[in-house]
Amino acid sequence: MTLSIRFDNSYARLPDRFFSRQAPEPVRAPRLLALNRPLAEALGLDPEALASPEGVETLAGNRLPEGAEPLAQAYAGHQFGGFVPQLGDGRAILLGEVVAPDGTRHDLQLKGAGRTPYSRMGDGRAWLGPVLREYLVSEAMHALGIPTTRALAAVATGEEVIRETRLPGAVLTRVAASHVRVGTFQYFAVRKDTDALEALARHVMARHYPETETVLDMLGAVLAAQARLVARWMGVGFIHGVMNTDNTSVAGETIDYGPCAFLDGYHPDTVFSSIDQFGRYAYGRQADIAVWNLAQLATSLLPLIDPDRERAIEAATAALHGFPDLFKAAWLDVFRPKIGLGTAEDGDAELIHGLLDLMAAERADFTNTFRDLAEGLSPGRLRDCAGIEAWTGRWQARLDREGTAASAAQTRMRAANPAYIPRNHRVEAAIAAARAGDLAPFERLHRVLAHPFDPQDEARAFRAPPAPGEEVRQTFC
Ligand code: AMP
Ligand code: MG
Ligand code: MG
Repeated sequence: MTLSIRFDNSYARLPDRFFSRQAPEPVRAPRLLALNRPLAEALGLDPEALASPEGVETLAGNRLPEGAEPLAQAYAGHQFGGFVPQLGDGRAILLGEVVAPDGTRHDLQLKGAGRTPYSRMGDGRAWLGPVLREYLVSEAMHALGIPTTRALAAVATGEEVIRETRLPGAVLTRVAASHVRVGTFQYFAVRKDTDALEALARHVMARHYPETETVLDMLGAVLAAQARLVARWMGVGFIHGVMNTDNTSVAGETIDYGPCAFLDGYHPDTVFSSIDQFGRYAYGRQADIAVWNLAQLATSLLPLIDPDRERAIEAATAALHGFPDLFKAAWLDVFRPKIGLGTAEDGDAELIHGLLDLMAAERADFTNTFRDLAEGLSPGRLRDCAGIEAWTGRWQARLDREGTAASAAQTRMRAANPAYIPRNHRVEAAIAAARAGDLAPFERLHRVLAHPFDPQDEARAFRAPPAPGEEVRQTFC
């Protein structure tokens, strides 16, 4: 069965210094672990051909499909606030871009496909755990309606990778609107390569923001997209965990599922990542970090915004100063329906924060508290807490002023408050089972997470927060 992919590789047509041409490094014994058939179909790819031996060889990087122009992208980035002028795809290879039947363009990238000129000390590989985690969590985010890179396939390599111990290797096929990052702009800015910056900006505008005419407009569009994205993360209790500028997509998609995690008990200071010692990327800091990252983008774009540096700084600063309002509006758009509101009123933010403050004091489960509201239940952990009655009174009064029937508010809340999120302990358990050769828990969890808003009677256990002893306290890249 022949796998045919219609490539149109616009990034490969950019100047040579944007990337290094690099083929994936073949692996010993590729075996398909997971294939995203609906995504394949949406991309215009034949799932049967992808699942065939030839397809699996392709997904493992052992065989190059016709039309692929494999390359590793160059980028820089601020990692935990420190600038690294040269990062780049150290273990990912872009095969090319596919234009789907609906006209949308997507990168097809193999993650864990071997060493590249940007690998530094790394081995260019990924192990099964992070590959399955990204598969589960990115697909769950998509089902939750949050812009994200997608997972097309996961393939076991039949090889071991050495981390703290020997682990089974795997390759993820990642699909993204593009892999252009804030750090891609920084890479050229720090080299004072204004021609490359200009070419990159034109590429991004044509590809992601065709309605924009100037680079300043593009900056504004990226700001708005990031504000919406981070607000959506907040709405599902998602902590990205490693919001470095090289992990900030200019297309506004969630990218790089490293030490990411979902809140169980709510507190804004929550951090899971083992490498985030100072809580830089804590749940409640994500909007501030996003604007910090976007300030790095704005700085990189200055030479394109205005030849007069003072004027460029003034314009870029004004755009950045718009972020808090963009974020606040996006956050309200996300949280209003979570408490059943369909209209806007002054004081809504305070009302929502009133609930969040009670939740923080009780470490109430983020997902279940909101879902309980949606199901007309008094929210679990908050049932007996001082303050919930007063809050419920204010909330009811607000719903009454709006004139929304209780049933309509509940319908709205059920569509905004998922029952199922990829709880950390479930993800870890699925990975542990897969490592021992049993993919069933991974598949089960994936099926449940595909319909996060629909009550699934047989999946009730997946709503439970971790039992004592099941809690995941730290996550790793
Ligand atoms: P990340 O923490 O995933 O955003 O990665 C940061 C940088 O390290 C990127 O340039 C990656 O390509 C690179 N990197 C991460 N893991 C590996 C690896 N196993 N081999 C080579 N490069 C890697
Ligand atoms: Mg990264
Ligand atoms: Mg990563």
